[in-house]
Amino acid sequence: MPTYVRTDKCDGCKDLDQPACEHICPHDLMKLDADGSGTGHAMKAFNQEPEQCWECYACVKICPQNAIECRHYADICPMGGSVQPLRGDDSIIWTIRFRNGAMKRFKFPVRTTPEGSADPYGGEPAARLDDISDPAKLFTGGTHACDPSQFGVI
Ligand code: SF4
Ligand code: SF4
Repeated sequence: MPTYVRTDKCDGCKDLDQPACEHICPHDLMKLDADGSGTGHAMKAFNQEPEQCWECYACVKICPQNAIECRHYADICPMGGSVQPLRGDDSIIWTIRFRNGAMKRFKFPVRTTPEGSADPYGGEPAARLDDISDPAKLFTGGTHACDPSQFGVI
């Protein structure tokens, strides 16, 4: 299900340098319609191409106004139905509305540690690229994780 912006909730992230959804979307789909010329709703974001949406829901999770919902294409689910998140400090609640009007809610904990604070190697030394030529390291736990800097990926 692709994502759609609820214009009644979106405030255009007016206090940020860039709308959060625009910043986070890996496919550059979310866009702020600053003057309303594209959608008729000034200072509201929109999903430019829902059919191209990866459905990763990064925009859903980052939106500070809980203004982005997921729903199916109208030609597939003409009767409606939606998935609406409500993000809190330590959890996210998903409200599922079925086409017959039935509702279900699911609550899940979310990460509360600061972004970038995770230890990717779990306290162990990072693996070296030349470890690959040493089967002993590969199969005895000597290799723990890849060091991205060795691959030119930072
Ligand atoms: Fe609107 Fe949410 Fe996007 Fe901010 S992140 S522009 S509030 S939809
Ligand atoms: Fe972009 Fe992912 Fe949101 Fe789709 S669900 S608009 S790919 S951030």
